[in-house]
Amino acid sequence: MKEQKSPKISILVFIDALGWEVLKGRRFMEERLPLRRKLRSVFGFSSACIPSILTGLMPRDHRHWSFFYYSPETSPFKPLRLLGLLPRSLVDRGRVRNMVSKLIKRLYGYTGYFQLYNIPFEHVDKFDYCEKSDLFVPGGMNRGENIFDHLSRASVPYHVSDWRDSEENNLDALTADLVKGEVGFALLYMASMDALLHEVGKESPQVDQKLAWYEDRLEAILRTASEHYEEVRLFICSDHGMATVHTHLDLMSKVEGLGLEFGRDYTATYDSTMGRFWFHDEAARERITALLEQVPEGRILPLDELEQLGCDFEGDQYGELIFLMNAGVLIVPSHMGLTPITGMHGYHPDDPDSDASLLSNVEPPYPAEAITDVFHLMRAESGV
Ligand SMILES: [Zn+2]
Repeated sequence: MKEQKSPKISILVFIDALGWEVLKGRRFMEERLPLRRKLRSVFGFSSACIPSILTGLMPRDHRHWSFFYYSPETSPFKPLRLLGLLPRSLVDRGRVRNMVSKLIKRLYGYTGYFQLYNIPFEHVDKFDYCEKSDLFVPGGMNRGENIFDHLSRASVPYHVSDWRDSEENNLDALTADLVKGEVGFALLYMASMDALLHEVGKESPQVDQKLAWYEDRLEAILRTASEHYEEVRLFICSDHGMATVHTHLDLMSKVEGLGLEFGRDYTATYDSTMGRFWFHDEAARERITALLEQVPEGRILPLDELEQLGCDFEGDQYGELIFLMNAGVLIVPSHMGLTPITGMHGYHPDDPDSDASLLSNVEPPYPAEAITDVFHLMRAESGV
């Protein structure tokens, strides 16, 4: 006797960095997912974009942006300062930093993505960190509600991947839930594309191979879903794209060349695509501003532009001055990494390589134009 099928499942597959320009000229799932649109991204890294997808809010409102922000009063990292007394050659090895990051995460009970990257230990006590909690559970946001708050309040049974787990395991976990036929909404999280694109860049044949692998696995997911559900609605979305790096700039040395004292005159953090500055002295503000105005590889973002981008934060939480690099310019070294890589994101959302994508086999229930609309799409698809 044939089992009764469940009526409907909506599956949203999140593929990190599957940008509109990454898909261009490629035929990834074209027949299966004929409805394809470009989504405008949010200014920032995945640490800003994913919260915007999960809440429908801009960074100013959910308060997740770049990981580190100046806040000596609340910094949980004071004990790490001691590591700054040890030789850099010892403590700045990737393995040592990974070990320390894991230890901190465990000691402090952080459930979010936590990585110290290359933030210097001698200054780490001046910074706090914005993603201490798991974003993918109810109550995960610094401010506002995410889709999981809505789903749990409405008692809607759903499936969500464990973002800490491998793509293979996440596919297996989704398959197991589809066979049970109990959930009506599923969010499948696929993280590896981002790492690959950083490493090899969007033009590489390895990207084609990876897309073929996704296509294969998602076809299998569709087959399983169709065996257990009458209607299968499939969406693939991303958070941003990937620009190809063409120039390296040592912004840190330029600023340090002014001879100002870090921590006394100013505090800065250097992400891969932007320098963020806090000033403790008017002269330091003037001198750093004058210096940055002479750096042609990037520009200072004026406040009205930050407002339009939804990145004007209360109390200038993430920086009093944001210096953004032109697309393709990488800050090396930075507090994110010491070595150059092929692809990078976190440039201006106007850059075509920043665009994300939305592919589907049905018309999206919401006129999606930006990644924040994915939140409304998820609400409509799950009925909450
Ligand atoms: Zn990335």
